[in-house]
Amino acid sequence: MKIISLHTRTVYEIEPNRNGENSMVCPECSKNRKPANQKKKPFNWNNEKMVGYCNHCGATFMLHREQKEKEFTVPQWENRTGLTDKAVKWFTGRMIKQDVLNAMGIVSVKEWMPQFQKEVECIAFPYKKDGAVVNVKYRGAQKSFKVVSGAELILWNIDVVKSNGKVIIAVPNNEPFYLTFDKYHFLNLPPHHMGWWNQNSLSSLAKLYNLKLDIIIKQPLEHFSSYTNSYINEKLPRIGFLKPILSRKDKLVKSL
Ligand SMILES: [Zn+2]
Repeated sequence: MKIISLHTRTVYEIEPNRNGENSMVCPECSKNRKPANQKKKPFNWNNEKMVGYCNHCGATFMLHREQKEKEFTVPQWENRTGLTDKAVKWFTGRMIKQDVLNAMGIVSVKEWMPQFQKEVECIAFPYKKDGAVVNVKYRGAQKSFKVVSGAELILWNIDVVKSNGKVIIAVPNNEPFYLTFDKYHFLNLPPHHMGWWNQNSLSSLAKLYNLKLDIIIKQPLEHFSSYTNSYINEKLPRIGFLKPILSRKDKLVKSL
């Protein structure tokens, strides 16, 4: 049967042979473990409820049903051009010049925004795939934004990676060694991270956009260790459940 990881959206084939709980190797994490642990069975698949959970990596799974090709809404995008002076100024403050905005088709528009329940001035970012606009992101005042309901969600400017192009994604690693000691993820909390990424989710991203994954490099954060050290010393509250982290501080900083 086919199951899907809700963690990475990867589909796996498994063959459970019991009716209720099945202890199995984890399709998601077992192959990445030390050889001695690869045969362990941390993954439980319940063949009645059709759900699974891995006690090692925490991934959850459900039965995968093949889906028909999705039909997406295609946004109306007549030949819109032009940016207000206010919008140009806003971008200039972010070091983005007008010729870039023109090349990207970014324009000022009046759009109905759910946050305000009325039409307001917005900046519109067309999302193009093979040259055609498949979605539009509208950004208004007070960080309001919306995308076209039912339209395809794609990476911005994905067309540039066609024909031997290369995309480099730099994100925080959500599975650094030090989190072993920091089970409440005190050093890894929003808002400073836009998303939580690990090897599996980056691999899935490549599959989703039909890209070939070249390499995943884990970069040590040596230059941040003094920052982390002072963060742990000064910022973390001295409360009971943090003691295990604080007592292993030296090891923690070294492991970054
Ligand atoms: Zn697992």
